[in-house]
Amino acid sequence: MFRKLLPIVEHVVKGPVWDCQMCGQCVLHSTGMTCPMTCPKTLRNGPCGGVRTDGNCEVKPEMRCVWVKANHRAETMPLLPKSWREEVGHLRPPVNNQLKGDSSWLNLMNGKDRETPEGWEVSH
Ligand code: SF4
Repeated sequence: MFRKLLPIVEHVVKGPVWDCQMCGQCVLHSTGMTCPMTCPKTLRNGPCGGVRTDGNCEVKPEMRCVWVKANHRAETMPLLPKSWREEVGHLRPPVNNQLKGDSSWLNLMNGKDRETPEGWEVSH
């Protein structure tokens, strides 16, 4: 019951405020409270090389580049902890699409969002 309800609650809370896409591994705190899953390329480390000279998206020219917004907000958003501001420059792992639809809150608590999925390990 709890596992079914939590994703619904999470989306009701985070959807309207941050346009949450329920990726199951939330990184809002390290991307200037800007959901990178709203980037058409769902980049976890942006921007891509295609940002337009006006700062808009190469894929959706009517939209501001999500990563331009994320970096700007990380610098300027009031009350953002210093450590969160700095994290926008850190390297994040790629999106694990197996977690899509999960509750990020739950995956944070059980550590699932930090697990390396099977097949991602590079054996030398
Ligand atoms: S321009 Fe920005 S929002 Fe558009 S695809 Fe590239 S990184 Fe994503």
